[in-house]
Amino acid sequence: MIKYNVIIIGAGPAGSFLAYKLKNQGLSILLLEKKGFPRYKTCAGGLSRKAYNLLFLENENIETIIEKRIKKVLYVRKQHFIARASEKELIYMIYRSDLDHFLLNMAVKNNTVCFKENISIQKIKTTKSNLTYVEEGRKQTIYYDILVGAWGSNIRLNKLVDLAPFKRFAVSSSWEGPVGPCFNKYFDEYALCQILRRYPGIIGYIFPKSELITAGLFTSQSSSFPVMKSMWKEFMEFWKLDNSIKPRNAIIPIRDSKKSIAKKNILLIGDAAGLADPFTGEGLYYAFISSLIASRHISNFFYNKKYNLAYEYTEEINSTLLDIQKWATVYEFLFHRFPNVSFWFGSECILGNEILNSFITGEIKYNEILKILKYSVKRILRRI
Ligand SMILES: Cc1cc2nc3c(=O)[nH]c(=O)nc-3n(C[C@H](O)[C@H](O)[C@H](O)COP(=O)(O)OP(=O)(O)OC[C@H]3O[C@@H](n4cnc5c(N)ncnc54)[C@H](O)[C@@H]3O)c2cc1C
Repeated sequence: MIKYNVIIIGAGPAGSFLAYKLKNQGLSILLLEKKGFPRYKTCAGGLSRKAYNLLFLENENIETIIEKRIKKVLYVRKQHFIARASEKELIYMIYRSDLDHFLLNMAVKNNTVCFKENISIQKIKTTKSNLTYVEEGRKQTIYYDILVGAWGSNIRLNKLVDLAPFKRFAVSSSWEGPVGPCFNKYFDEYALCQILRRYPGIIGYIFPKSELITAGLFTSQSSSFPVMKSMWKEFMEFWKLDNSIKPRNAIIPIRDSKKSIAKKNILLIGDAAGLADPFTGEGLYYAFISSLIASRHISNFFYNKKYNLAYEYTEEINSTLLDIQKWATVYEFLFHRFPNVSFWFGSECILGNEILNSFITGEIKYNEILKILKYSVKRILRRI
């Protein structure tokens, strides 16, 4: 019988980062991945400053995969072009294939983590703590003390472990290609954020890399899905992007706080737990945070076998993230209800833009309302 202390399914940012955090603790760890690495992943490739800071603390070499450091954002609404520059770097541009490969290398360096790619999970028997996968045509059944679901939005696996903590699904669609003649003059320094009059629930964005750009649309409102195709057409025409390259759609699960993200010896992290931000679609930071929290509780479990792993993990995730997610839903509601006013507040209004930037950098969290008020009063007084 082959048994590992921890089996992690999915070598995306959440899974690889968790394997990395656990690797020096004397545990046997198996990281299983469906695809062959390095692999393409649909993503805008924006690492917020708070996510970047977290990774930089672990490994300064993260610098080597940064394509661009963005301080300036161009906001476009109703043909108004508002360019805003922040004092601090806001977003770090990366290719997801580079980031995921970098994180995987951090995890597997020194061979303390066993990594298997191109595998296909067949069954998970939670009652017997084992799973069956196929690798190069051969079936293998292995046992675990702890199983971690880091499989992103693959809800088939959520069903296999009977943990599907989702309220709904946001949709993000991205396109990667040459900059085109219109965004060219902003390409060196700016990211773009835009709303179009006929598509109030959808945000358009452009994230520049060193040679290409990633353009995309994001919406967390299911009612907006059917119009995404026509918004793409308008968005591409607006920026004269090459429409022979087709956008790729992907879903981002959004958590239902009443549903479980863990049971007994099974934990979900990252998108598999629906932890992405429903307001902006940012998921990398929350993938890292949930991995950090999971790593602490997994260590505690092996130190004290009576430790209530699922309960303690869920408690810390809730106390760290639940309030933030609730407030994200409020901002999301305001944006969808009053898109023009909210967009104006976050871009044209200097105070609103500074608050938005401090959310991205991590200086203020969504739920720190008192801090937001104090910050606003201070800024207003300074201007009088
Ligand atoms: C279009 C788009 C743009 C986005 N842009 C941004 C952005 O700019 N910034 C940001 O912070 N977030 C962004 N996000 C969100 C972000 O991509 C996710 O939140 C993040 O990838 C979650 O990481 P994860 O490790 O939980 O899941 P994933 O990155 O999805 O990783 C899951 C891994 O599990 C593997 N897997 C799946 N099924 C199986 C299986 N059966 N067996 C084994 N392995 C399996 C997958 O191949 C994958 O490698 C974007 C999302 C989309 C869709």
